[in-house]
Amino acid sequence: MAATAAAVDREAAWLTELDSPIGDADHGTNLQRGFAAVVKVLGSDPPGTPGAVLTAAGRQLISSVGGASGPLYGTLLRRTGKALGDAETVTAGELLAGLRVGVDAVAQLGGASAGDKTMIDALEPAVEALATSFDAAADAARQGAEATVPLRARKGRASYLGERSVGHQDPGATSAALLFAALAEVAGPEVAE
Ligand code: ADP
Ligand code: MG
Repeated sequence: MAATAAAVDREAAWLTELDSPIGDADHGTNLQRGFAAVVKVLGSDPPGTPGAVLTAAGRQLISSVGGASGPLYGTLLRRTGKALGDAETVTAGELLAGLRVGVDAVAQLGGASAGDKTMIDALEPAVEALATSFDAAADAARQGAEATVPLRARKGRASYLGERSVGHQDPGATSAALLFAALAEVAGPEVAE
């Protein structure tokens, strides 16, 4: 979560810039505010297990981010955390299974599927590639985000633009790639399972 907050801080201006032509220019500031609050709450009351860390982080994102991305990322972390249960340690394979539950919950909450030009376009390939390695997941997420450029948005604010949403990279898919890059950074390149 600290690595994610740092990545979001570093790239906040870019995320907001991506959210300008096809959104309302707040994605960077939304996530910056959200993950700063996450780091603060985890620091002041450190949860005892990986599952509890993600659950607390998700709850904090939901309550501190006003944009669509708050409830969506909040659901991702909360549902992944719940799936991990109260285990003291979590293997890469267990994290993969938990993230699958979390990403499915995001798809259900937002009603988006692959190709709709949303964060799902980075999250789904990342989770699939996590079976290979954390680095592969980060690469798949980045490629998924880049592949949103030619797509026409079918969910979220960008969908109001219809055909005019084509030609721009989705901000939420881009931030999802930052999340998986941060995960790879702290988890290392080892093979999952
Ligand atoms: P808002 O659109 O409310 O201003 P943000 O700018 O923080 O919220 O986040 C926008 C991002 O949220 C989009 O780029 C997209 O990836 C994601 N998003 C929006 N709606 C949905 C949805 N229904 N399902 C999945 N992701 C979505
Ligand atoms: Mg926005």
